[in-house]
This record gives sequence, structure tokens and C-alpha cells, in this order.
Amino acid sequence: MQILAVPNLPGHPHIAYCDASLQIEHVSATALAQEFGTPTYVYSRAAIEDAARQFLDAAAAGAAHASVDLRYAVKANSSLAILQILARLGWGFDIVSGGELLRVLAAGGDAAKVVFSGVGKTAADMRLALDSGIDCFNVESSNELMLLDTVAAQAGKTARVALRINPDVDAGTHPYISTGLRSNKFGIAQDQAVSLVGQIAQLRHLRLVGIASHIGSQITSTAPYLDALDRILDLIGDIERKGAHLEHIDLGGGLGIRYTDQTPPTPREWLEPQLARIAARGYGHRKVVIEPGRSVVGNAGVLLTRTLFVKTTPAKHFAIVDAAMNDLIRPALYAAEQEIVPAESRPGNALRYDIVGPVCESADFLGRDRALVLQEGDVLAVLSSGAYGMVMASNYNTRCRPAEVLVDGKDVTLIRPRETPDQLYASERLLA
Ligand SMILES: *Cc1c(COP(=O)(O)O)cnc(C)c1O
Repeated sequence: MQILAVPNLPGHPHIAYCDASLQIEHVSATALAQEFGTPTYVYSRAAIEDAARQFLDAAAAGAAHASVDLRYAVKANSSLAILQILARLGWGFDIVSGGELLRVLAAGGDAAKVVFSGVGKTAADMRLALDSGIDCFNVESSNELMLLDTVAAQAGKTARVALRINPDVDAGTHPYISTGLRSNKFGIAQDQAVSLVGQIAQLRHLRLVGIASHIGSQITSTAPYLDALDRILDLIGDIERKGAHLEHIDLGGGLGIRYTDQTPPTPREWLEPQLARIAARGYGHRKVVIEPGRSVVGNAGVLLTRTLFVKTTPAKHFAIVDAAMNDLIRPALYAAEQEIVPAESRPGNALRYDIVGPVCESADFLGRDRALVLQEGDVLAVLSSGAYGMVMASNYNTRCRPAEVLVDGKDVTLIRPRETPDQLYASERLLA
């Protein structure tokens, strides 16, 4: 296969070729790899801010239907500098652990704009969240309600809670990132929700303020959201007929991004029909909460990696690169496909390569069967690596996690240095 033209990169604003050199904003990927080494995650500040503003604009456009609170899902990318960018734009945060709450506070986030999600909160994390003054706990079971009431009593506080409902809809996404099916561990079945409302009324340290749902991730159409919403709105009717009043509806996150050829709705196309449905069914006076993660940061980041060896076996061509599944696990975990492009695009005769890392697992691949013109030493960029990349990195094979760099126009900031091997075992103890 002849590669003649420089690739164009739809869906990746602020990441593009200038002549034949890949640039993140105004900085070349080759220069970044030279300066910071590889593997390194690089994020475009403008791309994060653009995505965040699209949600802010969508919220403003929908204000006639309902007012919207934005809560960034920290687990998608929890680097302090990124949380700081979003906090400065007025965003709140959706957390799933006490550790994430501490990150939000360290980055200057406002606890009063934090919602605490997750199916397995510990008493210690609940206490930290109560003492910090978070806005709301999204509760997923009767036993969690009881524990939260006990912890709130000890803290001398009243916990604001929303019930996370499992609306039993198929979001049409990968099974590992689908969360709204009856068979998933997440949420409360609709037919159990009304009795939990009764339970909350009996618990003196809880106050029911909302209802929440989150049906999965990398969802590329609005239909499953509207299905889930209809069920949620039915349930709100049932709950309020029992005398409770709900202040807010939390629609969750999960909006997909373009990895290869997907065409997900824009934030506005995603939000508008949901707000319209809420208003049309008479619930427009309530606040709406959204919790996007991937769609804020996913296409703002690339993972730079250098080709160590080109290896041809009787079956295949392999490009063995210095990034591995411990650095970016999405291909191994979800069979996810992400574009992989050269830092310097060269015309020539392309071969089909499996792009693999040095880790001792056959699941250790970043991409398969990719047509590239490649030499040893070449730098490659794995696109769409801003979400569920660095946050899922591990030290398997005693590999140091990558550096992280933020590009802002021509400015470059090292927002997390590469780990060093001595850091990896510094706190371990030898036997006497
Ligand atoms: C993971 C998660 C999100 C964010 O999902 P994205 O697909 O990254 O938008 C939002 N809310 C909850 C409860 C989550 O678990």
C-alpha cells in the first residue's frame, strides 16, 4: 500500500499535521518526544477548553428548558492541572473515591459542586466527603443508605442523597462499559426505588434531593438516553405521588467520542433533546446535572511512543514500541481501537504492523494491522488517549508510568514527571 498524503485527523481539534509534522497546538510531537522522552501523554489545553465550553454552551442553550450543572467525571483523567482547568471554568466534579475528592480539593475545585458516585463507598470515604461538604451522594443500595445515615449521624451532618436508578436500557456499547442493564452491578432497580424512598424518610440523617442514572460509556447515539430518561421521569412521578420532592435529575455521563469512524452527537445534540423531554413532561423546573468525562478530555490527548524494533515473523510485521498495556490498557481491556499516526509522516511503501509493547502478555498491543511507513526510532502518536489512559496506567513489569505534558499554544508544561524506578519500590520493606 502506498502512503502518499499526510493523514488528516477529523475529530481531533488542535492536533494536526503542519507540513508532514504532527503538532499538538503549536508544538511538534517530535520535539516533545525529544524533550520529555517516551512514552509521554500530551494534552492540548485548547482542546479541553473547547470541549468544556461546548458543554457550557449546550447548558446555556437549554436554559429555557432547565438549568444545568456540569460535573466532570474525574476518573476519566484526574491530573491536577486538568482538574484545575475545569474548576476555573466553573465546573463541579463527579467523584468515585475519597482519593478523587482530595485531588479535586488540591486542584482548587469546590466541594459544594461535588457529587459522589460509585457502588462501593467506604465509611471513611463517606466521612471525608461529609466533612468536606460535598453536594450529593448518588446512592446505589439500601445497605449503602443505612451506612451513610450512620456515618452522617457520627459526623453530626445531614447527607444529601440521590438514588441512582438502573433503568435497564441497552446503551449499545462494549459490555465492560455498559452500566444500565438489569444484569449490571450498578444502580437500584426501578421497582425497588419507591421502597427506598420510604427508607430514606425513616433515616434522620439523610435527605433525598435527586435521582440519577448513568447508563454506560462511549455511547454514540441519544436514543438510549431518552429511553432511560422516560423511565426515570415515570419513576419521579411515582416517588412524588408519595409526597417526596426531588430537586434534581442527574443524567450521568457516557457521551462517546470519535476514535476511528464514530459520529457521536455533539454536547448540544446530546443534551438538547433530553432537556426538551424533561420540559415536555412537566419537570422543567428541576435542576439537571450532567457528568461527562471522556467527551471532555478524550480527544485532547495523545500518547507519544517510540519504535524500539521492527520485527518480522513468518506471520506478521510487528512494531515493538516503548509504550505498553500498562501505559494504555484500553486496547487490551476493551478491544478498543485508537488511531496511531507517525510524528513525521513520510510517503512510501506502507506495511501492515501490529503495534505492540514490551510487556510479557499477548494482550499487550496498542493497535493491530495498521498501515504505516515505519523505521526503528520513529515516534508514533496514539490518538484519543486523553481519557481512561494515564488514570488506568499501572506499574506492571516494574515499568514507570509515563510523563504528562500540557501544551497551551506554544507553551509546554510538564504536569507530571515520569516515574523513576526507585520511586516504585521506595516504600517496600525487606525482611529482617
Ligand atoms: C464513568 C462515569 C461517568 C463518566 O463517563 P464518561 O463515559 O467518561 O463520560 C459519569 N458518571 C458516572 C457515575 C460514572 O461512573
